[in-house]
Amino acid sequence: MENLKRLIRTIPDYPKPGIMFRDITTLLGDSQGLKAAIARLAEPYRTEPVDAVAGIEARGFILGGAVADRLGCGFVPIRKKGKLPWKTIGQEYTLEYGVDTIEIHEDAIKPGQRILIVDDLIATGGTAEAAVKLVRRSGGEVLGAAFVIDLPEIGGAKLLRDLGIAVHTLMAFEGH
Ligand code: AMP
Repeated sequence: MENLKRLIRTIPDYPKPGIMFRDITTLLGDSQGLKAAIARLAEPYRTEPVDAVAGIEARGFILGGAVADRLGCGFVPIRKKGKLPWKTIGQEYTLEYGVDTIEIHEDAIKPGQRILIVDDLIATGGTAEAAVKLVRRSGGEVLGAAFVIDLPEIGGAKLLRDLGIAVHTLMAFEGH
């Protein structure tokens, strides 16, 4: 865990003053780090009946695709509005200023499928909560949500747990 944490690069004041950006590209670029991160993300679900991983654009695609391969299941992309080519279901969520929308193909998840949500980091939990709603509106069951990084002081993991979602994270950073 400490070894993995050392592979995260922190960039102060990006993309705006006051934000400590936790950059996972340094972890992704390290062969041992990438392998360990994927193994640890997948670990709790190895004996669970996961039908598909739903990854959130864009870093959730890299991690989620590899986790899906590990678990021997499919992968479903959750994308920013207007990017998916087929018919979609959209879900709005609140940002610090204004709202944004993520989308899923309307036929990506079959009713009753058990879905694992994957992204790189959970902060407010707004993005992940919208992903949970998309999966549930698609008829899927959310088996859990996995992230490399938790920012516990911002409260997103607690928000998801309060929604009944089992949250798995590999490391935490203090502050915002
Ligand atoms: P949230 O919806 O607030 O939980 O934000 C989660 C999404 O925003 C994830 O897709 C992250 O990649 C990104 N994000 C939020 N805060 C940070 C941060 N401090 N460093 C890197 N990425 C972040």
